[in-house]
Amino acid sequence: MELNKGLVLKSTGSFYQVVLENNRKITATLKGKLRTKGIRTTNPVAVGDYVQVEVGENDTGVIKSVIERKNYIIRKATNLSKESHILAANIDQALLLITLTSPVTTTMFIDRFLVSAEAYRIPVILIFNKIDLHSNDEEKYLQELRTIYEKVGYPCYAISAHNEADVATVRELLKNKVSMVAGHSGVGKSTLINAVDSRFDLKTGKISTSHNSGKHTTTFAEMFELAFEGYIIDTPGIRGFGLVDIDREELAHFFKEIFKYSHGCKYNNCKHVYEPECAVREAVQDGLISESRYENYLRLFLDEDTKHRQ
Ligand code: GDP
Ligand code: ZN
Repeated sequence: MELNKGLVLKSTGSFYQVVLENNRKITATLKGKLRTKGIRTTNPVAVGDYVQVEVGENDTGVIKSVIERKNYIIRKATNLSKESHILAANIDQALLLITLTSPVTTTMFIDRFLVSAEAYRIPVILIFNKIDLHSNDEEKYLQELRTIYEKVGYPCYAISAHNEADVATVRELLKNKVSMVAGHSGVGKSTLINAVDSRFDLKTGKISTSHNSGKHTTTFAEMFELAFEGYIIDTPGIRGFGLVDIDREELAHFFKEIFKYSHGCKYNNCKHVYEPECAVREAVQDGLISESRYENYLRLFLDEDTKHRQ
């Protein structure tokens, strides 16, 4: 039988909606033991997985293997569930929506998100939304933040979801990509997605489209096809993924610029807190690393510190 490559759009736990390369959609099941590389999880196949399927009759198929994932978001095992659960795989990018007003997004929130995304190896684009509401001071602060984050290497866009030209810019960013849209509640995620693709009618986190009415459960992740090629991946669990379980020894790896300067520290186990001849602290003093990024690093590091001592 012929094997076809497909992308998993939806999973209910026993059935998987898969779109094949020729755009045909099938409902697939799993048969036998599926070999996947890496960790053991409750779900061998997740939304966003590229799979090899044996296509049968009546738009059905059997998933034979999962192609190695470039990244994935996971819900860690807890005392209640012994195994981890993959929420979504192969995410090309995360758009983090930030607002400086109504509501306020803090740099701590931004940096926490960026640390998690780095740990998950998901590229992030920062979208400052609601700029139409900005006072002069907020406009100045926006420029400061843009300078900070662009220097670290994160692309930044300042938009209003109510402005069609800005929405067109975002549409370009989403083209041919699998994206997740993250940010505090109220920053304009639904407004932006609805504006990007008029078929969407997002309300309070639920998605229904004109060609596919009916409610979607919140327990399983789902990918939504955009009219102009590209997917938005949505599951409540990943919308604002919290700080991944990061070993404090590793935290500096996920602040890109801190990691870069850390190679110059005298001690190779330098934590950049109080050690002498620390190239990171020198870079902060010289204005090469932003104070807010370094302060947030310290806060996260010390948080971790207290957690580890308990
Ligand atoms: P979500 O919780 O992130 O999905 O946020 P919503 O999309 O529900 O937006 C929250 C509120 O902010 C709504 O009343 C939107 O109309 C409003 N909003 C979203 N984007 C903008 C914007 O760019 N400018 C202004 N002034 N309001 C916006
Ligand atoms: Zn150091």
